[in-house]
Amino acid sequence: MSSQFIPTRVFYEPAALDYPLGKRLVEGFRQMGIDISPTTSHNRVTGIPGKTPAAKYREAKRTLVIGVRRSEKFQSCKPSAHYQLPLVTSCPGMCEYCYLATTLGKKPYIRIYVNLEEILETASKLIEERLPEITRFEGAATSDPIPVERYSGSLKQTIEFFGRQPQGRFRFVTKYTDVDSLLDARHEGHTRFRFSLNCAEVVEKFEHGTPTPEERIIASGKVLQANYPLGFIIAPIFRFPGWQEAYRRLIEHTAQELSKRAPSGWSSEEMTLEFISHRFTSRAKANILGVFPNSALPMEEDVRKFKYGQFGYGKYVYQPEEILEMKEFFLEQAKIYFPEAQIEYFI
Ligand code: SF4
Repeated sequence: MSSQFIPTRVFYEPAALDYPLGKRLVEGFRQMGIDISPTTSHNRVTGIPGKTPAAKYREAKRTLVIGVRRSEKFQSCKPSAHYQLPLVTSCPGMCEYCYLATTLGKKPYIRIYVNLEEILETASKLIEERLPEITRFEGAATSDPIPVERYSGSLKQTIEFFGRQPQGRFRFVTKYTDVDSLLDARHEGHTRFRFSLNCAEVVEKFEHGTPTPEERIIASGKVLQANYPLGFIIAPIFRFPGWQEAYRRLIEHTAQELSKRAPSGWSSEEMTLEFISHRFTSRAKANILGVFPNSALPMEEDVRKFKYGQFGYGKYVYQPEEILEMKEFFLEQAKIYFPEAQIEYFI
């Protein structure tokens, strides 16, 4: 699949036109001949077609909304960062287990916020408040920010903003591969560029509309060559016949590709690895089956262990002995292929 997202329809808040980015985006989409119309608020967009939840979801994922982020407050983003940095909401991908499905609910359409200067100004203040400590911001807490970067350029500007912040750090994660425009950004090593990976068996079945693992691995090599601190999230990890060999091949192939691109003197100690085993809540299961009625996702409650979550709702995880086996396996693979990498967690 091409990693280039072209929306079917665009909505914009009239106030977005007060910002140069808003104006440029609206004019750009008009010139592309895309259906574009005003909307009162990026939080209440009406006029997206679709009769069933599945059709509505698909159409929303082809809809782009250009808006102004009004709240001056950033949500906290523990434990991976201090704050979320809101540049974009949602993404055009249709991963069946998307971690945003529950939070975005009926509003999975993609939003770009055009008041970037104001957003970065808020980040500056938050960095200042915590001096002399370092303050970390997560750019992918509510989105995959890469697919719309070719239109907005916001991610590059943000990366360069953090390049100028001695005590500010930025991180985000993506499944997309349209990274070329970010390779010459003056990041100064202050942005950690992470890729979400899974084996081909899983991506083909569940991550609709996203680039293949092969394409993501190639993009990660480019990012490494551009001297970014690099990381991988392998998630969600499934058990299926042959899972060990499939994941082993994925990690081996990643290591081979990176070794071709690594700048001289690079060692895997500058890399981070995160591992997340598959889990689901009852609410997520109901949402997923609403949008993907024929989903083949393994979501049988009776073979899983029910675990109370910190936010008051429980989730179904693999059995403890299965998780232990998975954890040992992944830590061993990491040791073989990326012996110095920092393992952030296995959950
Ligand atoms: S790429 Fe990420 S944000 Fe987009 S649908 Fe998939 S999991 Fe969700």
